[in-house]
Amino acid sequence: MSTVIIGSGIAGFGAAYSLYQHGIKPIMFEGKTYYGGHTASYKYDDGFTFDDGPHISFTKDERIQNIFAESVNNKYEVLQAKVNNYWKGYWIKHPTQVNLYGLPKDLVKKIILEFIDNKYRGNNSEDISNYRDWLYNQFGKTFAETFPMEYGHKYHTTTADNMSTDWLEKRIYTPDISEVLEGALSSKTPDVHYVDHFRYPTHGGFVSYLNMFLEKVNLKLDHNLTNIKPKTKELRFSNGERVNYKHLISSIPLPDLITMIEGVPDDVVDAASKLACTSCIMVNIGIDRNDISDSHWSYFYDRDFIFTRLSYPHMFSPNNVPGGAGSIQAEIYFSKKYKPVDKKPEECIDQVLNDLKRCGLIRPGDTILHTSARFVKYANVIFDLERTDALKIVHEYLDEQNILYCGRYGDWGYHWTDESFKSGETAAHKFVTGE
Ligand SMILES: Cc1cc2nc3c(=O)[nH]c(=O)nc-3n(C[C@H](O)[C@H](O)[C@H](O)COP(=O)(O)OP(=O)(O)OC[C@H]3O[C@@H](n4cnc5c(N)ncnc54)[C@H](O)[C@@H]3O)c2cc1C
Repeated sequence: MSTVIIGSGIAGFGAAYSLYQHGIKPIMFEGKTYYGGHTASYKYDDGFTFDDGPHISFTKDERIQNIFAESVNNKYEVLQAKVNNYWKGYWIKHPTQVNLYGLPKDLVKKIILEFIDNKYRGNNSEDISNYRDWLYNQFGKTFAETFPMEYGHKYHTTTADNMSTDWLEKRIYTPDISEVLEGALSSKTPDVHYVDHFRYPTHGGFVSYLNMFLEKVNLKLDHNLTNIKPKTKELRFSNGERVNYKHLISSIPLPDLITMIEGVPDDVVDAASKLACTSCIMVNIGIDRNDISDSHWSYFYDRDFIFTRLSYPHMFSPNNVPGGAGSIQAEIYFSKKYKPVDKKPEECIDQVLNDLKRCGLIRPGDTILHTSARFVKYANVIFDLERTDALKIVHEYLDEQNILYCGRYGDWGYHWTDESFKSGETAAHKFVTGE
């Protein structure tokens, strides 16, 4: 009987890394025919590489920085993040709240007056029961409704009044009045995005950060877990294989995990079904020029643009494209709970190309060298108002069954790669130390 990890994403490898340091080489089962989960990179024969959504490493944790660096033999790019926004034909530096310069004067005036009014009236944090209240409280109604609520609806697929605030941390910059004024009067403003610098492997896409972990695990690809019998500690896979485990660490999404467990009570199944997550269609485009944008990624607010965010993988590493070419990855969000998928990935390509032309990123005369599209079932956890209670029920049940969970979709959080890796390490540490 072995120690088993389910899922070969970065959380699974975090668990494997920790176990290896304790002298245990675990078996890792992965449902797909390739490893990496969301940190996988797709290398196409035409020379383009695209990740599973834009992936950069902006961790401030030096230990993780060093582990990732060692994994790529110190061959990584270090870049200063440049980010912008597109709104009704205007390109605005990010974040908008401190870069209002150049927007329609009436709008800027209204935003500033409400911002000042809010600050001097005094914030009453007791009135805040959801993300919409928080936005109104921080920025005033006009800014909130014009920018973050519009973007949030596209990104989270639900409205701000249906979302909690426990995911915010430092994700949304909250300026003081002088910063807002400065950004309204001048286009030269300091960079205040929570991602300032980032690293990216020079070769092979983001997945190269997993290189050093592969030898530390007995990896079995194409093993899709379908059943768990906690009483007899047995796992069943769709290829017919059966395996007994001593300890089980899962990094697969909770709504899938729960329905696989034999004898799971109805209230736990019900709670798991309330956990909401976005799905994403990623559309990848390659063109014959690399001066597409100065930014590494761009946010799109307008509802009539199909994508929510664009990124430019050739800016992360020149090796992501054939010589002289440029690349764009578009993200289009859906969710089973709030906005079910209504198209096939390939059906989005034409509209993406059309919208790229409308905003001027693709110009007449450009040659399209690459198009591809993929569907990602689990993307970003939605922090809706049902999440906290439902998650408590699910996690308590898994604890009772001695099934350890980790990663973005095991913890059901807003984890970045470093946090998912550490979550895997924590799960492994738990059973090694018996805590
Ligand atoms: C669009 C997007 C952009 C992102 N950008 C960044 C970024 O720039 N920087 C950053 O640090 N983080 C980023 N993240 C977050 C990052 O992707 C996650 O934190 C991390 O990759 C999650 O790793 P994980 O191992 O927890 O989950 P996953 O990577 O999803 O791994 C779970 C694994 O389990 C496997 N699995 C599922 N079901 C089964 C089954 N039944 N049997 C066997 N195997 C199964 C899956 O195939 C997968 O390989 C981004 C996320 C998204 C969605």
